[in-house]
Amino acid sequence: MGYKVVKFGGSSLADANQFRKVSNIIKSDDKRRFVVPSAPGKRFSDDIKVTDMLYKCCELAGSGVDFTDDFQMIKDRYNGIISELGIDMSLEDEFNAIVKELKARPSRDFAASRGEYLNGKVLAKFLGFNFVDAADVIIFDTKGTLLLDETVKAVREKVKGLENAVIPGFYGRTTEGYIKTFSRGGSDVTGSIIANAVRAEIYENWTDVSGFLVADPRIVDKPDVISVITYRELRELAYMGASVLHEDAIFPVRSAGIPINIRNTNAPQDDGTMIVSNDYDFSQESMAHTITGIAGKKGFSTINIEKAMMNNETGFGMKVLKVLADNGLSFEHMPSGIDTMSITLNTEKFTPVRDKVLAELRKAVNPDHIEVEDGIAILAVVGRRMKNTRGTVARIFASMAHARINVKLIDQGSSELNVIIGVSEHDLPEAIRRIYDMFINSEK
Ligand code: ASP
Repeated sequence: MGYKVVKFGGSSLADANQFRKVSNIIKSDDKRRFVVPSAPGKRFSDDIKVTDMLYKCCELAGSGVDFTDDFQMIKDRYNGIISELGIDMSLEDEFNAIVKELKARPSRDFAASRGEYLNGKVLAKFLGFNFVDAADVIIFDTKGTLLLDETVKAVREKVKGLENAVIPGFYGRTTEGYIKTFSRGGSDVTGSIIANAVRAEIYENWTDVSGFLVADPRIVDKPDVISVITYRELRELAYMGASVLHEDAIFPVRSAGIPINIRNTNAPQDDGTMIVSNDYDFSQESMAHTITGIAGKKGFSTINIEKAMMNNETGFGMKVLKVLADNGLSFEHMPSGIDTMSITLNTEKFTPVRDKVLAELRKAVNPDHIEVEDGIAILAVVGRRMKNTRGTVARIFASMAHARINVKLIDQGSSELNVIIGVSEHDLPEAIRRIYDMFINSEK
């Protein structure tokens, strides 16, 4: 029988009621054997995540300030969950050990990791599952880079013969024995690694939304959920700022051909979003629009360069890009004409070296005209089906034209997986709404 690895985010385990939902989800499917919990997250919008409370205790401990009161709040969170669930356990010894360690060696990674560690203990007890400490199986080198092969081997050895296990997310240990965490939101990565190691048939990532949305819900009213998205499409959208999943959570499952299913703990009846590779059987998909998602990002500038006969000057582009590279700048897009070239850059990165770059460009290519335009937003229309659908680009630009939105930049790469357009920042929300209407609402 295949296994499912299930990861639950902080809001899915924020209080006793959420623990019950999680238990029901796990117990409703025999395949859900390996469970990766986050630390208790927010119960309401201005609540504080246990991870943040732990960072604070560590800071206080590091400056030699008494952190008893702050640590008490952490104890109260766990003790509240334990007593409300009516489980017979005490974390007192664990609490004391943490306080002792923080006083002796206030390491941020150690402090933060305890949120997942303690939550894993409570969840394992509540489910009647085995507890496997992530410090025994998730292994980093001394620089903090994950050692995937060693980790997979350690996980396999540890879970061999175990019917089930709760393995806390977010942390592991270095080869020197120190506790090390991933970056924030890193329990997603742990879940992905465990799925790879136990050769899971699916990695379920349970959170508080029913999957990836076609567009940002702050811009489009109640956007549809994407039912199936490929890893490549996801990368395009995530790059533009649409995020539900930690970026590093993709590789371990992708390399093993394991799909990820984003699910909602508060609406387990929803199918959520399947993240799959290109060879997935897409015929099972219920909703199939031409485009998969739309995402946009503000904060770009373009450097527009004009020079008569630019097309005849061999190495022109190379000289321009060398100036950027010498100044540590990477560019986003670079459409060009016969005598013009325009380069899109991140404004924040460009600003500190702006004058220097412009001076160096003048020297390197002696342009007739050079100017910078700020306040540009980049919008990506992403979809694997565009390649086989005629007229997609025409529809995108028709929707821009109807809204009288000026398109400043167009870029479609050879993959035909996305169309990039640049507009003024203030036009971005309307551009996204128009494209959503054109492709999603009108295709219903
Ligand atoms: N608890 C950690 C955080 O708040 C890790 C996680 O939730 O994935 O970032």
